[in-house]
Amino acid sequence: MLFRAGDGMAKDWVIDFCNSKAWEDCRLAFMRSKFFICERCGGAATIAHHITYLTPKNINDPNVTLNWDNLEALCQDCHNKEHISKGATREDVMFDEQGDLIPKYPPQ
Ligand SMILES: [Zn+2]
Ligand SMILES: [Zn+2]
Repeated sequence: MLFRAGDGMAKDWVIDFCNSKAWEDCRLAFMRSKFFICERCGGAATIAHHITYLTPKNINDPNVTLNWDNLEALCQDCHNKEHISKGATREDVMFDEQGDLIPKYPPQ
């Protein structure tokens, strides 16, 4: 697991969001609307990808976090490719448990 989040990282902001009822409802409704089909390859989508990545600055902005226009239904492969193409090999970023790329070291 190359991008597994380490313990003790300061990323409570994204954990809180991912565990929120608002996101769970939003994610499920969105994925249902896409019939759980990957928008890029037609495979089985498992991830609601945020087109504008989540950051500590926008995490409380529903126009970013819960906006269907900012979501894309992706399978694991396409999601990995998306993030790798955007520089997932950098050392200051990692995947969270939703498969989204987040900064390892959020700005204070
Ligand atoms: Zn796909
Ligand atoms: Zn993503």
